[in-house]
Amino acid sequence: MGDCIFCRIVAQEIAGRIAYEDADLVAFHDINPQAPVHILIVPRRHIESLNAVTQEDAHLLGRMLVVARDLAREHGLADDGYRLVLNTNRAAGQSVFHLHFHLLGGRFFHWPPG
Ligand code: 5GP
Ligand code: ZN
Repeated sequence: MGDCIFCRIVAQEIAGRIAYEDADLVAFHDINPQAPVHILIVPRRHIESLNAVTQEDAHLLGRMLVVARDLAREHGLADDGYRLVLNTNRAAGQSVFHLHFHLLGGRFFHWPPG
């Protein structure tokens, strides 16, 4: 986790536009937004990907979803809709190996995703 960019944002070693934080989670705006609202929700603890979670992380994962829901509400996305994305490993396009949900909203999304 030495040079993990998200660990550095969590530790405030590099700047992130923080949207929410608590003892376990941090949410910040994506540097390269793919929608009018594009927020990343991450655990403070370095977890490489969904593949690395354990049963003990179940509560943490649930809280990530509740925070995403709250942020969606706060940003006015709840009624029109929003998308949560969790990319895992290469084929899905994961590029930062610190677990994160993308919260995307403010436009229409296609299905199936590209
Ligand atoms: P992934 O492709 O791993 O699912 O998503 C990684 C996301 O992190 C990308 O959307 C990318 O734009 C974002 N990202 C990468 N580096 C930084 C950074 O230094 N700051 C912020 N705020 N977002 C970043
Ligand atoms: Zn990390």
